[in-house]
Amino acid sequence: MIDPFGRTVSYLRVSVTDRCDFRCSYCMSEDMHFLPKSDILSLEELNRLCGTFIKLGVRKLRLTGGEPLVRRNIMWLFRSLGEYLKTGELDELTVTTNGSQLAKYAEELFEAGVRRVNVSLDTLDPDKFQTITRWGKFDQVMKGIAAAKAAGLKVKINAVALKGINDDEINDLVSWCGENGHDITFIEVMPMGEMGEAARLNQYWPLSIVRGELQKRWTLTDLDESTGGPARYVRVEETGGKIGFITPMTHNFCESCNRVRLTCTGTLYMCLGQDDAADLRTPLRADDTDATVKAAILEAIERKPMGHDFIIDRRSQKAAVGRHMSVTGG
Ligand code: SAM
Ligand code: SF4
Repeated sequence: MIDPFGRTVSYLRVSVTDRCDFRCSYCMSEDMHFLPKSDILSLEELNRLCGTFIKLGVRKLRLTGGEPLVRRNIMWLFRSLGEYLKTGELDELTVTTNGSQLAKYAEELFEAGVRRVNVSLDTLDPDKFQTITRWGKFDQVMKGIAAAKAAGLKVKINAVALKGINDDEINDLVSWCGENGHDITFIEVMPMGEMGEAARLNQYWPLSIVRGELQKRWTLTDLDESTGGPARYVRVEETGGKIGFITPMTHNFCESCNRVRLTCTGTLYMCLGQDDAADLRTPLRADDTDATVKAAILEAIERKPMGHDFIIDRRSQKAAVGRHMSVTGG
């Protein structure tokens, strides 16, 4: 799949549910309304759709959400998609999770062929964790991370940089990750969903400043690697670990974008920062041969936009994109 700007689309992120057992303040409101079950693709349909993308050239799949590991019978989907790893049609199957179910599923994930997991953890302070996630259980997540490591999964910690909330902890997070053999990625708060613009402006903490703070304590060496996404990586010489910086607002990464995002209702977003989308559920259900849905996917890739235009500033008081991160999974 090659888009109009010559970019090869080889990475699909799939939000398998919009539901979650946490209510992180930057992601969801406390009284979220979730989609009716009837709108959501069955696991068999998600499997079929992912299979079609793989046949069209997707080499890397990430399951996300909402919280992917709270969807009932989700291990069936991991096992099914894991078959494509065995045949060599897929290079990598990964998951982004809040970690709450990892103690239960880490071994099964490894058996299905998953080798890397991203776990979101913004703080090492249990009280702060409670404030940020509202419903999260810190100990459960820490146990989940330990279980993932014990099962042989490489863990990458995702931490959203939040001014006035975890800005005093970034060095501790880097130390802790170094000690435990985890990489860490800092993410800038993105303007998505309706979470109260005043709150968002107050939390926004540019990663250029985060990096400057880290450099006071650590020796950071730029790494060349690119994943086709918005992350830039450095090595921490003291720990040997890696730090990623995801800076959707202060860095232009769109030229190398290799990814598209599928929601649990079968809507394909060609760009995280734009509203244009394609409905794949109707063509998927239209016939059993996959020809119709294949044509719909290719037509959508033709519409992949050149880039996004996120902005958080005082002139633009509205979210650039109306949907919540839990819809497309970040
Ligand atoms: N529930 C899983 C988790 O928390 O890892 C997967 C879905 S979550 C939407 C994916 C990532 O998006 C998490 O790392 C989360 O911190 C991040 N995220 C959510 N809302 C965000 C926002 N407004 N700005 C930046 N990152 C956000
Ligand atoms: Fe749930 Fe992840 Fe959103 Fe937190 S960031 S509310 S864990 S989907």
